[in-house]
Amino acid sequence: MLKFSHQEHIQSYYAATRHFHFTLPTLTQRKSADVCVIGAGFFGLSAALELAEQGKKVIVLEGARVGFGASGRNGGQAINGFEEDISAYIDAVGFDTANQLWQMSLEALDIIDERITKYAIQCDWQRGYATLALNQRRMEDLVAIEQACREYFNYQSMTLWDKAKLAQNLGSDIYTGALFDPNSGHLHPLNYCLGLAQACLDLGVEIYEHSPAMDLRVGKSKVKVSTDQSSVIAKDVVLATNAYISVLPKTMHRGIASKILPVESFIIATEPLTDAMADSLIRNRMSVCDNNYFLDYYRLSADNRLLFGSDSSPGLDMTTVMRCNMLHVFPQLEDVKIDYGWGGPIDMTLNSNPHFGRIAPNIYFAQGYSGHGVALTGLAGRIVAEAILGNDERLRVFEKLKVPTVHGGKFIKQAALFIGTNYYRFLDKYR
Ligand SMILES: Cc1cc2nc3c(=O)[nH]c(=O)nc-3n(C[C@H](O)[C@H](O)[C@H](O)COP(=O)(O)OP(=O)(O)OC[C@H]3O[C@@H](n4cnc5c(N)ncnc54)[C@H](O)[C@@H]3O)c2cc1C
Repeated sequence: MLKFSHQEHIQSYYAATRHFHFTLPTLTQRKSADVCVIGAGFFGLSAALELAEQGKKVIVLEGARVGFGASGRNGGQAINGFEEDISAYIDAVGFDTANQLWQMSLEALDIIDERITKYAIQCDWQRGYATLALNQRRMEDLVAIEQACREYFNYQSMTLWDKAKLAQNLGSDIYTGALFDPNSGHLHPLNYCLGLAQACLDLGVEIYEHSPAMDLRVGKSKVKVSTDQSSVIAKDVVLATNAYISVLPKTMHRGIASKILPVESFIIATEPLTDAMADSLIRNRMSVCDNNYFLDYYRLSADNRLLFGSDSSPGLDMTTVMRCNMLHVFPQLEDVKIDYGWGGPIDMTLNSNPHFGRIAPNIYFAQGYSGHGVALTGLAGRIVAEAILGNDERLRVFEKLKVPTVHGGKFIKQAALFIGTNYYRFLDKYR
């Protein structure tokens, strides 16, 4: 049995405040469909939704519960662009392709808006996001990003804030300044994910929970996906298993698992704060992230909790570690209780490029969003659906991005992660 399969949602603030409580059946009978999607997170559901809107018969197989993975437990921050600086994309793939990628990253934010409106998804979507610099050198990085986006891609929306301007919106004085983007934002990820699932169900998509796909057999024109109890025959398959891909049998992932390095991240949620306290922390309700390699990310929830996240270290009491990190930013929260703490793996690639493509003409995948998955998964779903419907132009743009292979088995990956972690912690300290 796959390690994560047949599990329930992890305990978190999101699971405790979800709007939907549906339980979906397990696949016990053989089925056929136009498209079989494996994994019911943002990406899989987004692809299923786009395909169902175009009249395709879609079956989604989820090994645990809808939103069990990163989509139901993340920081909820939907951010423009990519993890790697956009200038690096110009160097790697040329101006035109980099420009297309940038414009698509903005479309990714609009897709969230569109879906929330079209399907009336209640998920506390709020625009406004700032990247924060902890020193002058890191501030210069933000200045360069603002300039590159404005001059190269005519993106005029972002504004640079000095310390005084930042202080009007943020109750912490450890930062030098910020880059504010009014289009990026944040949401309740599990409610968004369950809302996407409900929209899929309303359009006739069949979603099966506790139905892990264990094998793929590719025939001449069809693919057979076997679960632990039954199977689905489909013309096209979408692999939407994200960081969990590393535990799947090789027959399923055919090497793309070696492009992903899952990095654990952890989030705490405080007890609800008074309106005055919440306002004094983040007056304009934006979400924020610093620009360290090992970054802190945080935001207020709709019920005034501070949700504070950061990368996690194995073997430590992460709620305590995270509370210390939070108090470093907001010492005024010393007496505030922590109600929840939870974590999960983030799908990083070695160079932070997203990794979208196909492992056979009719088996598509998208993974490696490297901390930008809340927004980019919606886009990935759309462009994979476009490719299945006959237009793979935009998928081919993403296929131009090179993603290095992480060589070696589980232990070598863990060693690489350990060395990499310490290297980047060193850079964060002395850069
Ligand atoms: C703690 C944390 C904080 C994060 N914060 C942010 C953030 O603030 N902003 C941001 O942009 N990104 C963030 N991310 C990353 C983001 O959540 C992911 O990139 C995104 O949710 C990926 O969506 P997905 O649909 O590809 O994968 P997932 O949501 O992980 O979905 C994959 C699904 O596939 C299922 N599955 C796997 N294998 C099988 C199988 N064989 N058969 C059937 N089902 C299978 C899993 O059970 C899972 O439900 C964070 C991630 C974590 C863990």
